[in-house]
Amino acid sequence: MSDITKQSLTELIENIKNKKLSSTDVTKAFIDRSEKSKELNAYITNDFTSALDKAKKFDQKPNFNLKLPGIPMAVKDLFCTKNIKTTAGSKILNNFVPTYESTVTENIWNEGAILLGKLNCDEFAMGSSNETSFFGNVQSPIDKNLVPGGSSGGSASAVAGKLTPVTIGTDTGGSIRQPASFTGIVGLKPTYGSCSRYGIVAFASSLDQAGPMAQNVKDCALLHEVISSYDPKDSTSIEFKRNHYSKELTNNIKGKKIGIPKEYRVDGMPKEIEDLWQKGIQYIKDCGAETIDISLPNTSYALPTYYIVAPAEASSNLARYDGVKYGFRAKGENLIDMYEKTRSEGFGAEVQRRIMIGTYVLSSGYYDAYYLKAQKVRKLIKNDFDEAYKKVDAILTPSTPSSAFKIGEKTNDPVSMYLNDIFTVPVNLAGLPGISIPAGHDSKGYPLGLQIIGKAFDEQNILNIAYAMEEKINFKNKITDWWIK
Ligand code: GLN
Repeated sequence: MSDITKQSLTELIENIKNKKLSSTDVTKAFIDRSEKSKELNAYITNDFTSALDKAKKFDQKPNFNLKLPGIPMAVKDLFCTKNIKTTAGSKILNNFVPTYESTVTENIWNEGAILLGKLNCDEFAMGSSNETSFFGNVQSPIDKNLVPGGSSGGSASAVAGKLTPVTIGTDTGGSIRQPASFTGIVGLKPTYGSCSRYGIVAFASSLDQAGPMAQNVKDCALLHEVISSYDPKDSTSIEFKRNHYSKELTNNIKGKKIGIPKEYRVDGMPKEIEDLWQKGIQYIKDCGAETIDISLPNTSYALPTYYIVAPAEASSNLARYDGVKYGFRAKGENLIDMYEKTRSEGFGAEVQRRIMIGTYVLSSGYYDAYYLKAQKVRKLIKNDFDEAYKKVDAILTPSTPSSAFKIGEKTNDPVSMYLNDIFTVPVNLAGLPGISIPAGHDSKGYPLGLQIIGKAFDEQNILNIAYAMEEKINFKNKITDWWIK
């Protein structure tokens, strides 16, 4: 069967189940394409040899009752994988080989999937362009000069470029939705507490969530169903009845009320984004749902709040990298000198910037003015959503304030880089689920995404809305395979 890598996850599963394809055929096809795609720099580590072995083993004794039978899959290099190097895109973890597996990846392998390798990401998931990785930047399959977004840039590039059928990323302030939007794919950031954080390299613990990235909504729903589980190993994991998201998926959203928040119309937003949003509103109406103007008055404080809370938690989480317990160690004259050299040589510039900001906002004298204040504003942002959800079932916004930008365009201007997260961070601060779906192209032909934000634990609802809209939008990703020689 030709064009294996062009098939969706759902199609691949069907073809494996009805024996039109073996796991070996599928695994070989994705390995072959991944090998031809080195220029994208999407992988940090590959595990191709053992992937093929596992595929052969699966074919000898297939189990078609599993949800991901013999499906090869690469994952973001922020998930600890037992006995396979896990770097978080950092020099400081360059030689770190975990002795344990993250719960979400464990869930994936338990359903029959096979690890292809570990995908590039911004260092410790800090970034919006995948340019802060110690392993070099990732290129977008859309265009050679574009960033794929970040921090799950390798994941987005690998799904859009068809190096893996689906993948998982992490989203602390937008790192699944923004790269999904930049590369024309679907990305879901689940409700905080829905997917276990156990074994995921921590960035900002009160915001981090793992989630699926896929070519379409159905694949995304299926992968979410696999990764979402209650996990006693994560103290913030929440026990609730999880849906069979893919089975219960429906495009019937008649009568749903969708909020359109006026505060997401930001100054200087390109007309193309406004037009896309208007189109989205029309699609919603075409699906038989209703749109309602709403207000989320504290939206403009979300970004400054995020850039206090996230660095604060990061500075605390990253204190553990001292050259003793994990990874890289620099030589020093004494213990303190070793700590200092390890951390200044092991962390890149963006991570050091975050540690400094975080340490500052937590330090005595500044704690009340910054960190405590930010926590209070965070609550106000959450209250805005609670208020809105008295009137609406979900909220529709653009995913990002622009299409993908050029490699290098924002590297010297952190504030402009941070501004890219303006529509995604409120969702993390409020702990809500949000999904980005490809919804159109700008004048240059680059993909643009729309975001649907849900109530806590209402993933099924936003998946359904996304599914209904996807059908109307009928988005076609323009991938030219420019990187394959
Ligand atoms: N771009 C944001 C940041 O740099 C979000 C990152 C993320 O979601 N991991 O903090």
